[in-house]
Amino acid sequence: MATENTKILTGWGRTNPGMSSKLELPINSDWPAMLKALSASGVVARGLGRSYNDAAQLSGGSFIDATIWNQVLHFGSASGTLKIEAGATLDQIMREFASAGFFVPVTPGTRHVTVGGAIACDVHGKNHHKDGSFTDHVVSLDLATPSGVVTLSREENEKLFYATCGGMGLTGVILNATLQLIPVESVYMKVDTNRTRNIDEVMSLMEDEDHKYRYSVAWIDSLARGASLGRAVLTRGDHARLDELSGQQLKDPLEFKPKTLFSAPDIFPSGILNSVTIRVFNELWYRKAPRKEVGAIHHAASFFHPLDSVDNWNRIYGPNGFVQYQFVVPFGKEDVIKDSLELLSRKRAGSFLTVLKRFGSSNNGLMSFPMEGWTLALDLPIGAASLPGLFDQLDAMVMEAGGRVYLAKDARVSKSHLNEMYRQIDEFREIVNSIDPSRIIKSDLSRRLGI
Ligand SMILES: Cc1cc2nc3c(=O)[nH]c(=O)nc-3n(C[C@H](O)[C@H](O)[C@H](O)COP(=O)(O)OP(=O)(O)OC[C@H]3O[C@@H](n4cnc5c(N)ncnc54)[C@H](O)[C@@H]3O)c2cc1C
Repeated sequence: MATENTKILTGWGRTNPGMSSKLELPINSDWPAMLKALSASGVVARGLGRSYNDAAQLSGGSFIDATIWNQVLHFGSASGTLKIEAGATLDQIMREFASAGFFVPVTPGTRHVTVGGAIACDVHGKNHHKDGSFTDHVVSLDLATPSGVVTLSREENEKLFYATCGGMGLTGVILNATLQLIPVESVYMKVDTNRTRNIDEVMSLMEDEDHKYRYSVAWIDSLARGASLGRAVLTRGDHARLDELSGQQLKDPLEFKPKTLFSAPDIFPSGILNSVTIRVFNELWYRKAPRKEVGAIHHAASFFHPLDSVDNWNRIYGPNGFVQYQFVVPFGKEDVIKDSLELLSRKRAGSFLTVLKRFGSSNNGLMSFPMEGWTLALDLPIGAASLPGLFDQLDAMVMEAGGRVYLAKDARVSKSHLNEMYRQIDEFREIVNSIDPSRIIKSDLSRRLGI
């Protein structure tokens, strides 16, 4: 066991820096004894720390570094079923299994997340309307709890399975998981792009046509106003078939070896991203996109993970960082999307990357974020005095509409609002209390929100 005192900054911002001691534990530890030995100060599992908040840290306690467990345990080359340790990353899976003709079933906007982190946050991608979220593709997993190590699936320990999928690491330490990968013919994507004049146009395009595409996402200009409110660049696509490729693309169509283009230096002062610079960026980004393009072939890495090509991209926000805010509201509550963009634009609160997606049906995860409806993700540089009030207003609009905020990105929602948004939270608490009555496993997030 190696320990070290590590200062973990809260996600990518600065909301709640904490001191947690890092633990490197063998995956075959005597888990009940190990966890009980940590009962005084508590412990939480941590993957790559890509959640934008305090979910994977515990001030005054310890975190278990899961990234040291990354072995492949079994791969069915015909079925695409993969059993892998929970610290393996989606990047690793893509690099290793694309050549066998398989891709991860769901990927968030970065591939630098672990399997354990993807299960604990039940992450979603651009294909939720077709394929659901990450845990919909988890066949089973092994979980270490203070009561013992248990195998969970839809058939075995079903309740604990659904508490763990989206349970923010609070049910125990995920040791490994069996995933169902999807077959692909290439690591390229066939992509259609539409530049739309405003939010109404993009939303109706998505409503009418998203069912034709496996992946769909709209980038929104958060500062556009009036008739241009919510103007957008909509990109939709599918995995490209071999007969859709040409030239160099056919040379090694299943090789997935994306490179980082450069690393952002640590020189940006806070405040460099403000309503003026974001307005200029948005204008350029909007104008750069084709008005309408059909069937363009892009590499999967640039389609799914454009930010991953720049190491430490978060540094451009300066030392103050930024707050991510993502919410979902049911279909029929489109006004909340429009009103929130109106609010941002009116308050000149520029969100650097604003993304709109449509979610399909929710799954049985008790604390899973996705529900059928519209989801909007914002990231706002910390600094403007109006921000806290603006988020409170957004919370009120989201709650009124029967929606919720995403816990992997939340750094500020109140306990009472959380209980309103996640209606199965009491059942979740009951399950957690039954397997971990002393609440050894906890995080700064669970303490902040009283989960
Ligand atoms: C650029 C960027 C884009 C993103 N885009 C999306 C997106 O499109 N969709 C989306 O859903 N999310 C998105 N995210 C959020 C990210 O996918 C999730 O926060 C993910 O959980 C991070 O994985 P991680 O391995 O870094 O986990 P961490 O951040 O280290 O941990 C997250 C949670 O998982 C728990 N956890 C981690 N490992 C284990 C384990 N082995 N056992 C039990 N619990 C564990 C932690 O306790 C914590 O509660 C994005 C993040 C970034 C930085």
